[in-house]
Amino acid sequence: MQTGTIGVTTENIFPIIKKFLYSEHEIFLRELISNAVDATNKLKALASSGEYKGNTDHLRIYVKIDKKNKTLTISDQGIGMTADEVNKYINQIAFSSAEEFLAKYKDKATLIGHFGLGFYSAFMVANKVELITKSYQEGASAVKWTCNGSPAYSIEESKRDHHGTDVILYIEDKENEEFLDENRIRELLKKYCRFLPVEIVFGKKKKWEKDKLIDTDEDEIINNTKPLWTQKPVDLKDEDYKKFYHELYPDIFDEPLFNIHLNVDYPFNLTGILYFPKIKSNFDIQKNKIQLYCNQVYVTDQVEDIVPDYLMLLHGVIDSPDIPLNVSRSYLQGDPNVKKISSHITKKVADKLYEIFKNQREEFEKKWDDLKLFIQYGMISDEKFYERAEKFALFKNVDGKYFTFEEYEKLVKDNQTEKYGTTVYLYATDKEEQYTYIEQAKNKGYDVLFFDGQLDMHFINHLEQKLKKTVFKRVDAETIDKLIEKEEAQKVALSEADQNHLRHAFFGALTNKDSFMITFEALSKDDLPVVITRSEYMRRMKDMSQFAPKSFYGNMPDMYTMVVNTNHPLIDKILTDLNKKVTSELETIDHQIEPLEKEINNLKEKHKNKKDEEIPQTEKDLLKDKENQLDELKKQRKTKLEEYGNQNKMLKQLIDIALLSNNLLKGEAFNHFIRRSIELIK
Ligand code: ADP
Repeated sequence: MQTGTIGVTTENIFPIIKKFLYSEHEIFLRELISNAVDATNKLKALASSGEYKGNTDHLRIYVKIDKKNKTLTISDQGIGMTADEVNKYINQIAFSSAEEFLAKYKDKATLIGHFGLGFYSAFMVANKVELITKSYQEGASAVKWTCNGSPAYSIEESKRDHHGTDVILYIEDKENEEFLDENRIRELLKKYCRFLPVEIVFGKKKKWEKDKLIDTDEDEIINNTKPLWTQKPVDLKDEDYKKFYHELYPDIFDEPLFNIHLNVDYPFNLTGILYFPKIKSNFDIQKNKIQLYCNQVYVTDQVEDIVPDYLMLLHGVIDSPDIPLNVSRSYLQGDPNVKKISSHITKKVADKLYEIFKNQREEFEKKWDDLKLFIQYGMISDEKFYERAEKFALFKNVDGKYFTFEEYEKLVKDNQTEKYGTTVYLYATDKEEQYTYIEQAKNKGYDVLFFDGQLDMHFINHLEQKLKKTVFKRVDAETIDKLIEKEEAQKVALSEADQNHLRHAFFGALTNKDSFMITFEALSKDDLPVVITRSEYMRRMKDMSQFAPKSFYGNMPDMYTMVVNTNHPLIDKILTDLNKKVTSELETIDHQIEPLEKEINNLKEKHKNKKDEEIPQTEKDLLKDKENQLDELKKQRKTKLEEYGNQNKMLKQLIDIALLSNNLLKGEAFNHFIRRSIELIK
């Protein structure tokens, strides 16, 4: 028996490491099994070069728990080691690299999840480790290496039937006893080893017998050694991709929309499959669904530095031996390889989408509503992706027809360009609520787009910066003639005074006075007498402020414009009635106002070039008094008009109808409307 001390300088670094690595204890299993896979693959390589003559078809790795002896054993049938090799690879290399690691990353414990600590990590959970190994070389004898967690080790001769290595972990500490639990180990194997290229056996397959689950004779293999991404795309069918999707995400029942098989070998090595998931609501949006592998060993599902943000919504796997896993985040972001990987993935995704668009447009359109979110997000956040996606991004109109940007421009350019040269893209966000506006636009021969997605509003803001001389307006942003201003709008024929009277009367009839501006337009006789619009700009500001609740616009009430159609006979009728009923009263007031105004003007004229102290106090008081009187008269005048409006049932009815067609008539006001309607019918 040979004894010695491991080539480390620190007296006993195990306790330090144990503490240091506490939260990531579980990765020891990944590390030891990776070593077992390497040992197996090395033997296969030797077999294919003829150096090893035995059969390598059924080499497996066994993971076993022995509860009684408190051991966990990982056995492989790989190349094994001679005593010399144990000395070299375990005593010198394994431990020296562990020590190096410690020195380097003392302060960065969070990295360890990505890190290959190697054989040494066994000591994170074990008090004692035994390694029984036999080299594949002819005539080699087995050796047993033992180390109890101090730098002292021993090597002695041992017995083993076949070449390969057993690593036996003696797990005595209470805090590590979870690693003797079958379910816990199975869970870890599923997490880290699910797609390793060598079969891993953990226990036996079970079957039901007389209401009990019992072991069969057959080994239970926990991994899929040939995951789909390692296979050639030409050999795979759509069904295979779907099956693999469900293998990856057993909790997701929807089929993915599309998949993209990544396969790069220059200038870096990367394979993988990305899936576009079906997203039904915001709740379904989940990042961290892409898993990163390194030669089929699971590394992490935190891929934010490798995959551009908008593609984080995708699902799937990426496998690359070239992604540096053992470095800090900030370094990763600056790493040129990582940047290339990210832009390559972007390009691949865009190419694939374009290909589907070109070859299966109908299929693409069918899935567009689900795909839209990814593509819009990508176009907003990544210039490069925008340039690529311009060719296949679609608009959908209220009739469910789809157009590329180019097609749409062609469609509406002639008919929807304003006299100033700006093309107006009309849209609706709710086909029911905006029905009348949509119909009016259609009657004019306009096309109306349909935007009801989560990102649509952000997206149109973005498009307005991109598309030349193009603006988006919701159908109810203006009255139809102003929505797309083609020629000079018809002049309003009402006198200033009449407009003023009507404005006050309308104002008097309104319940929610703060939310409305009253304007006059000479619309067609066939249009409604009163139309409510909501300025595109104000609405967008308000909508956007949802995302920044403290902003100025967020606190503003919803503002609408109430457009009075001066060409409508009913408005004419109201005006005539108003003038008849109120004019004489107004005239009485006006007769008082006129001389007052004159007097005030005269006084002001007199004071014009005088300093304040040169004006006698009596005159100042007089002016003030007259001004107060004038204010009072004007108020009376206004009140008269408002009272008229408030009592005019027809006027109220017209307002309510306008409110109603915008879905703005609710509660008590709606009740009033119904009662008034019945009265009017009587
Ligand atoms: P790494 O795997 O990164 O080289 P490790 O500390 O895990 O570092 O292992 C050191 C060396 O010990 C390996 O390179 C390998 O030569 C040898 N080794 C470890 N485990 C095994 C095993 N199961 N079979 C054969 N050799 C092994």
